[in-house]
This record gives sequence, C-alpha cells and structure tokens, in this order.
Amino acid sequence: MTTTQVVNPATEQVVSTVELVGAAETDAAIERAQRAGADWRAVAPGDRARLLRRFAEAVDANLEQLAQLEVANAGHTIGNARWEAGNVRDVLHFAAGIPERLLGNQIPVAGGVDITFHEPLGVVGVIVPWNFPMPIAAWGFGPALAAGNTVVLKPAELTPLTAIRLGELALEAGVPEGVFQVLPGKGSVVGQRFVTHPAVRKVVFTGSTEVGKEIMAGCARQVKRVTLELGGKSANIVFADADLARAAATAPYGVFDNAGQDCCARSRILVQRSVFDRFLELLEPAVHGVRVGDPSDESTEMGPLISAAHRDRVASFVEPSTKVAFTGAQPDGPGFWYPPTVVLPDAPSDRVLTEEVFGPVVAVVPFEDEADALRIANDTEYGLSGSIWTNDVGRALRVSRGVEAGNLSVNSHSSVRYWTPFGGYKQSGLGRELGPDAALAFTETKNVFIAT
Ligand code: NAP
Ligand code: MG
Repeated sequence: MTTTQVVNPATEQVVSTVELVGAAETDAAIERAQRAGADWRAVAPGDRARLLRRFAEAVDANLEQLAQLEVANAGHTIGNARWEAGNVRDVLHFAAGIPERLLGNQIPVAGGVDITFHEPLGVVGVIVPWNFPMPIAAWGFGPALAAGNTVVLKPAELTPLTAIRLGELALEAGVPEGVFQVLPGKGSVVGQRFVTHPAVRKVVFTGSTEVGKEIMAGCARQVKRVTLELGGKSANIVFADADLARAAATAPYGVFDNAGQDCCARSRILVQRSVFDRFLELLEPAVHGVRVGDPSDESTEMGPLISAAHRDRVASFVEPSTKVAFTGAQPDGPGFWYPPTVVLPDAPSDRVLTEEVFGPVVAVVPFEDEADALRIANDTEYGLSGSIWTNDVGRALRVSRGVEAGNLSVNSHSSVRYWTPFGGYKQSGLGRELGPDAALAFTETKNVFIAT
C-alpha cells in the first residue's frame, strides 16, 4: 500500500499520512458500486430524500471539524472553509428535493400513451481538484446520488482529508455501503480507471483544461458521458460610469480569494481608458488592505498557495521584465506564500493574459468602448465567469449577453449559488452543474410508448 503525506501549506508541517488506493482496489470499489446500484435505485424516492437530508445534517453537525480539516490541509481561510462545508450541507439539502421531483413527461400521441422517465446512469466517477475539495465534490455526488446513481469519488492527492470524512459521514447517516465511496489516489491510477472501466457510465471532472481534454478523449472510446469544469481567464470589466470606488474596493476579492486558486478568478481587469489611472489609484490601497496570513485567524482574507511547486509556477508569470504596478502583503516564515500582485502587461500575447495563473496575480488592461471591452474579454480560449461594473442597466445586459462565459455578475463578483446553473463556455468546460437541472446531468431520458 503506498501512502502520501498531507502537508499544511501555511506551516509546511505534515498533517497526516493517507493510504493511496491502487488500480486493483479501484476496480473492486467500482464493482461494489455497481452491485450497490441495483438496491439504491430501488429505494423509494421519499426514503432516498430522507437519507440525503440525514447526510446533510451529519455534515452540518460536523461543520466546524470539516472546516478545520480544510484549513489544515488546503490553507483555506477559516471563513471560507466554513462556507465550503456549509455549501456541502446546502447542496445535499437541495439534492434531497430531487428524488420526489424527478418528473417525466406525458406526451400526446395517437393510439396510446407516451411517457418519459429519467433513469439513473449507474456508477458515476467524480474527479476533484485541490482548490475547492469540499464544494466541487458535493456538486457531483449530491445530485448524482439523488438521481439514483452510485458514486466513486477521487479527491486530489494533495487534499484528501475532507473527502474521506464526508465518506464516513455518509455511512454514519445511513447511506448504504457501496453507494458513495471515496478513493484517495493518483489521477493517473484511480482517475484513469474511472475513464477506462466500462462499469463507470459517467465521469465528472473538475480540473485543468489539459487533463480535461485527455479525460474527454478517453471517455470517447466508450461514449462515456462527461461533465467537464475546467480552467478560466475571466474578465472583470469596469466601465467609466460605474461606482468606481466600489469596483476598485472589491476587485481584489474577485481575484485573490482562495489566493487566486479559483477557476472563476477575475484575473483580467479591463478598465475604460478615461478612468484607467483613477481606477489604479483606488485599487492600490484596496490591494494593500487584503489581509494575508495565518488562515486559521478569523480576520485573515488570503492564505498560502497549495504547494511549493505551485508557488514556483505562479511566480513564473512575473518575469524580471514584467511591469508590476504594486503588490500586497506576504508573511515571513514557513508556508507557500505569494503576495497579491497587480501587473500591467505590455501586449495581448503576454502569458499573464493568455494563461490561467491560478494564483494571486491580476493583469489590468485599458479598453476604449463597449465593443473593445467585449473583443478583449472574449479574446481567450476560456469562458467560465466574469464581472461587469456599470450603472447603465442596458449596457449591463448587452455586455452580459456579449461575454462568452457561463457565469456573469453585474456590480458583484459572485459566481456560485447551489440553485443556479454553473459551468463554462469554450475550453472552460462542457455541461452544467448545480441549478434546477442538476439531476438531468446524471440521468438518461427513456421514452416509453404504450399502445392502448
Ligand atoms: P488537474 O491537475 O487537472 O487535476 C485535477 C484532478 O484530476 C486531480 O484529482 C488529479 O489527480 C486528477 N488527474 C490528473 N491527471 C489525471 C488523469 N490522467 N486521469 C484522471 N484524473 C487525473 O487540476 P488541478 O491542478 O488539481 O486543479 C486546478 C485546475 O482546476 C485549474 O485549471 C482550475 O481552473 C480548474 N478548476 C475548474 C473549476 C470549474 O468549475 N470550472 C473549479 C475548480 C478548479 P492528482 O491529484 O493525482 O493530480
Ligand atoms: Mg495537477
């Protein structure tokens, strides 16, 4: 049995040692999930709903423990970590409403009755990245279980602790053995088996666009269903007519939250040229004001990066020739720290404008008018989220419709609510999670005609 050491990124201390699941054990787990599926899909809708509610209540009763685990494992601020554990609870409560509302259609036909059913797919494999270990796991397993599927879940190797605990809580809540299994292990081993094992009927993958393409290509061999939630290079578009003070005060939190390790990070700030200098003047104190430090401190707003290797990757985006406008705070001592950093790129082809940094680095770029803002915002292979700051409601709607991205916010930086749909355009992904149709991503529609 191979093991991995889980490291606290704020202290560089080992938190615990976790046993990694290998290929044979993954196959055994998938086969257990397949066997458990027959009974699980037969559980009465009201009983499945009750089990999911009990799972949600178990998460709520252990919210503080889950949050503290995430602070220690991922360096998330305690405030964020509590929100993330609460999000798992809320996703499960929302999912508990699904079994009794998984409605089909009755379609008028001649000579009989035509009805549709939303049938579960079977075993669903969920592959989770390290940046939001709890919510991203729940967005997959919550609706998948609710729709009658069984789930095998692979957390990221760097951040397995909360997922392992969620697996235990499901069992404690009465979810039957084999219905929801957490398999800590390597992507190249456990994740790959989800792609290649024929009993896994769908893979939900959140992670890099690079790995996502491999997953999609692998799944194509079995015409296996996929949902992909991939990278982003989202734009925060600030028009001259906006509340500039508010736009500047909030911009750091739209990109530096979770130390920028957020697929929705607004890592490009586009500012109308007439207010460009004024915006930067207002942005500087806001960036200096971001409280960076010990993530277990209640007042901390930004913690460390996940690993030393990731910090080096983030740092590589700020080259000696890069124009740095200003930087924020960074604690001394151990931990994988990188300060909030604002850069002014020279050209649209600069790496910092074309690639996902996944760290606290933001590029600020001027634009001329609405058309120019849209052209720059859409000049990327990504299309996950974005923000529009303006006091003109017509412009807010025009630009919202014009930006090629799945999740936009006007005069705000919010992206995720469990009851609204979430997902990417272009190379940011395929399919949607959450929202009113969440269960339909985990079902096949079956049409039945009965001659009368
Ligand atoms: P990653 O390297 O793509 O890894 C994501 C997950 O896939 C991990 O669990 C990883 O396992 C596994 N994996 C790696 N190679 C695999 C393979 N060949 N087959 C199957 N599974 C494999 O991404 P990351 O660095 O962890 O996460 C950061 C990325 O996720 C960013 O690009 C970010 O934008 C994206 N993201 C997107 C969303 C969204 O909703 N759109 C949300 C969050 C994050 P290991 O742990 O063993 O590497
Ligand atoms: Mg990786």
